[in-house]
Amino acid sequence: MSTETFAKPLTVRAAQVTEPGGRFSMVERELPEPQPGHVRLTVEACGVCRSDAAFVNAAFPDVPFPLVTGHEIAGRVEAAGDGVEGWDIGERVAVGWFGGNCGTCLACRQGDFIHCARMQVPGWAYPGGYAEAVVVPVSALARVPDELSAAEAAPMGCAGVTTFNSLRHSAAGPGDLVAVLGLGGLGHLGVQFANKLGFETVAVARGSDKAEAAKHFGAHHCIDSNAGDVAGQLQALGGAKVVLATAASSDAMSAAIDGLGNNGELIVLGATPEPIQVSPFQLISSSRTVHGHPSGTARDVEETLRFAALTGVRPLIETRPLDDVAVAYDRMMSGDARYRMVLTTGK
Ligand SMILES: [Zn+2]
Ligand SMILES: [Zn+2]
Repeated sequence: MSTETFAKPLTVRAAQVTEPGGRFSMVERELPEPQPGHVRLTVEACGVCRSDAAFVNAAFPDVPFPLVTGHEIAGRVEAAGDGVEGWDIGERVAVGWFGGNCGTCLACRQGDFIHCARMQVPGWAYPGGYAEAVVVPVSALARVPDELSAAEAAPMGCAGVTTFNSLRHSAAGPGDLVAVLGLGGLGHLGVQFANKLGFETVAVARGSDKAEAAKHFGAHHCIDSNAGDVAGQLQALGGAKVVLATAASSDAMSAAIDGLGNNGELIVLGATPEPIQVSPFQLISSSRTVHGHPSGTARDVEETLRFAALTGVRPLIETRPLDDVAVAYDRMMSGDARYRMVLTTGK
């Protein structure tokens, strides 16, 4: 009998896009071998994030084609390169937007790894999670608690950590009024985290039909942004310490700034190139700030997952097999996903 019989398959299936703006197609790719300091993961699940569209459409610089995108990865450690310590074969892990840091740039030397000048994002710096296997640096790994399935853990690597990490590092303390702008992939997690972090939580979403879902996720108040004065309604509740802007709408962000109380913060997560309109008058006397927040390191992802396990926060997901990537991507793009699309490999 030939040893070939027992040899591992040398290819993995992946969903790739061959040119900017192109459609996904399933292909066989060579099984990647982990270099020193890297591990190969069996991908069990990968979330579909709006940022994936920026890679597919080459809106970021130096996107490699053919492209395998995907940066909300959950799976198991399958093989380790030389020099990997502290991670076991078979261990359950997640990899999010933070896909590794250089260790030598100024930010890294300051211990500020999320601002690494050469930070790697899976599906940009190297092939991402729309595949049966990925190779990632060990600095990208977060442990997944038993309480979360792979499909539940995957969105925590980007949508989850971005909302949790920005809220826990915000000016808001227990009992403070926190408004979450938007009730989509990020927003439905933002509302849950805000509730579990002990904030008086306001969901701000378009349409009165969102109120029931927002309450289900833990909102104490709901504001229909189509019905008018969001800032006035936030002031009627006492003024927000934090407005967490998950919706990619600069107009909605601008309209919420006057809803901030003294020392209030508009935290910008929803990515759009349109300018936010704000006057110095709006900022000065109430000492308001407007600032952005990137996602979080691998350790932040791990702490997000641990907090979710502890408190019951979970993404509400629609799963599709990897082969249905185009359907999942279109549902994410159209805004029809309730609330996060997750691809599963059956592994
Ligand atoms: Zn993302
Ligand atoms: Zn660096």
